[in-house]
Amino acid sequence: MFNQKSFMRMLKNNPGYPRMGAHRELKKASEQYWAGKTTRDELFAVAKTIRQQNWKLQQDAGIDLVPCNDFSFYDQVLDTSLMLGVIPQRYNAVLTQNVKNKEIDLYFAMARGYQKDGLDITAMEMTKWFDTNYHYIVPEFTANQQFRLFSEKVFDEFNLAKQVTGIIPKPVLIGPVSYLLLGKEKEGGFDKIDLIKKIVPVYAEVLKRLKAHGAIWVQLDEPFLALDLSQKEKDAFVYAYTELKKQCPEIKTLLTTYFEGLGKNTGLAVNLPVSALHIDLVRAPKQLDAVLTIIPETLSLSLGVVDGRNIWKNDYIRSLAHIKKAIAVVGNERLMIAPACSLLHTPFDLDLETGINPEIKKWMAFAKQKLNEVNELSKIIDGDNELLKANIEAVSTRNISKLIHKQEIKNRTAAITVADAERASRFTLRQKIQQGNFRLPLFPTTTIGSFPQTDEIRQLRARLKKGELSTAQYDAEIEKATIDAIRWQEEIGIDVLVHGEFERNDMVEYFGEQLDGFLFTKNGWVQSYGSRCVKPPVIYGDVSRPKDITVRWSSFAQANTHKLMKGMLTGPVTILQWSFVRDDQPRYVTANQIALAIRDEVVALEKAGIKVIQIDEPAIREGLPLRKADHAAYLDWAVNAFRISASGVRDETQIHTHMCYSDFNDIIEHIALMDADVITIETSRSQMELLEAFSDFKYPAEIGPGVYDIHSPRIPAVAEMVSLLEKAAALLPVENIWVNPDCGLKTRKWPETQAALVNMVEAAKAAREIF
Ligand code: GLN
Ligand code: ZN
Repeated sequence: MFNQKSFMRMLKNNPGYPRMGAHRELKKASEQYWAGKTTRDELFAVAKTIRQQNWKLQQDAGIDLVPCNDFSFYDQVLDTSLMLGVIPQRYNAVLTQNVKNKEIDLYFAMARGYQKDGLDITAMEMTKWFDTNYHYIVPEFTANQQFRLFSEKVFDEFNLAKQVTGIIPKPVLIGPVSYLLLGKEKEGGFDKIDLIKKIVPVYAEVLKRLKAHGAIWVQLDEPFLALDLSQKEKDAFVYAYTELKKQCPEIKTLLTTYFEGLGKNTGLAVNLPVSALHIDLVRAPKQLDAVLTIIPETLSLSLGVVDGRNIWKNDYIRSLAHIKKAIAVVGNERLMIAPACSLLHTPFDLDLETGINPEIKKWMAFAKQKLNEVNELSKIIDGDNELLKANIEAVSTRNISKLIHKQEIKNRTAAITVADAERASRFTLRQKIQQGNFRLPLFPTTTIGSFPQTDEIRQLRARLKKGELSTAQYDAEIEKATIDAIRWQEEIGIDVLVHGEFERNDMVEYFGEQLDGFLFTKNGWVQSYGSRCVKPPVIYGDVSRPKDITVRWSSFAQANTHKLMKGMLTGPVTILQWSFVRDDQPRYVTANQIALAIRDEVVALEKAGIKVIQIDEPAIREGLPLRKADHAAYLDWAVNAFRISASGVRDETQIHTHMCYSDFNDIIEHIALMDADVITIETSRSQMELLEAFSDFKYPAEIGPGVYDIHSPRIPAVAEMVSLLEKAAALLPVENIWVNPDCGLKTRKWPETQAALVNMVEAAKAAREIF
């Protein structure tokens, strides 16, 4: 008999899966191929295995709409550029040259640049994918941009997936409007959104061909639908989807949004002529009501209920409430359940983590486990109460666990007052006191913290881990490196020294390892860009600082010099931003807990005789919410967390902060509100243009605009830096200007670092002569 129940059952959908492999096989294979150590076929074989395993795994987990073409050798936006033939002219040489593996080498050339076969072509620009730490390759458009079907990857993947799984996979594409909005106009005289008319025919061709290959569903990612849109952009959506519907009426389109709610675009989104709409109910649960109120009878709905951006186990009670509410309005047959976004942003498999406290592990889920959650939710809807009970039990132990919940910390965080976020006196007064005590010259010189992390330094840490070095031996070596760095800074005449951060593996991990409430995974890798992955710490519980963190190294360094030694800390917002954060309390509460821990460290440094303390906040800008309307609330708590961390000290103690990779224009008032005595920022690549945000007294305190780019081994000339300082002096009061590089020097080698800093000190001296 025809199975009525399975007909009625909701489909289980998955927007995308991690592509690196459980053991980062793709990373290793790509890097080998780039180094010329393996062939294209070997690389392709690894990629094929990863895809086969992923498909199999998703099929086993009961996913009905198994994605294909979500795999990528580097980046899905770059894949789309290749599919559409958006290949900047400078790469033509790669195609005409006798390059062996044309398509894949062209592809990698666009991602990474090409320096072979007598060619030297720069890579395309890379930028952050919405508010994630994933970076995509920015499409480049010209006024006369043409589109044509170039790469066959999507069809190849579809056919392979079909063959491997025996089911009909769901190809994933970036939708035409979002693809255009992700790109950049490389010349004037046109608006990229006007390219919509030219791009849609290629999308139509792709859909038709997929249909011919047997595709039923096609996922079109349009994350921009969850952002603020102009009227022109909205019109582009209507045009594109009406046209696609007209040209390929039989294909089922699954319009996919994530990372935010549809907000004012709800009406637009639900009325586009597509077959289904996917919404993110983890980031924006409230949008469900709005969508259900106006959903047309022809539209199916994919409910993104499992968090694709974090590592926590799903709270089934919460997800079931959404699902049941949706069932009541649209019924089972028009519903799908799914992770909220592609699982690309989560690590692969929790089962590989053998070192995590089992109690905490019970509360976690990586990509593989999240698929299972989708499956379990569907079973619970079908009546499996045991699964629900098990989940309720795990969630409730988390709610009361002593590992997480420390009443003392909660009390202290709740008792934070306005005064805790205020220095004793205003900046102008503090500046007078500090200038009187420090007697620094005009244009004082300093650096951002780290000195080269050489192979020798890294090996020390590896040997300590393996037990080949005792802690005492390791410390002795780090002391030697620190003293050498101090002597050398004194010799060349730097004014405010740093100890070099030789003892640190990473600016967040080093702190996380010494704070309570953090844990570290062995395999929790997430793709950041290309073959590069990061392994964020997990903040699972109330955060506290059981003992001093940096005092040992900072006071050791200060004891070895008569000059000022700058203490070096990572700020609360950056620690939060670069970790997996607990989802059982608002982010600001966790930020405040970290802020109190850092505050205690700042006070301890002051007590130990450190007079200048830098609290790095490079990630403050990247935490900005996607919607403008939410910016102010975020900036308020983020700035306040920084102020809490910085305000436990006396006026005599000078607080520095440091920021990089940012355009500061729209947040300058908030940066000023951080109330640091000195801020050092990245400005050299923009020739001080970024500094304009700080001019005209918009920023009241002292500023160190970076005078040279640390991302390149290039050694800047003295005259070049003097001219940058002159530009700075035209914008700021001279007595507020510091002289420093753009960022820390840990990725550089010693010879270029030394040469560059000698020139920098010369430049500062020359500037003192001029002013
Ligand atoms: N103090 C850190 C360093 O110098 C700052 C790094 C950063 O801003 N990203 O390495
Ligand atoms: Zn920096």
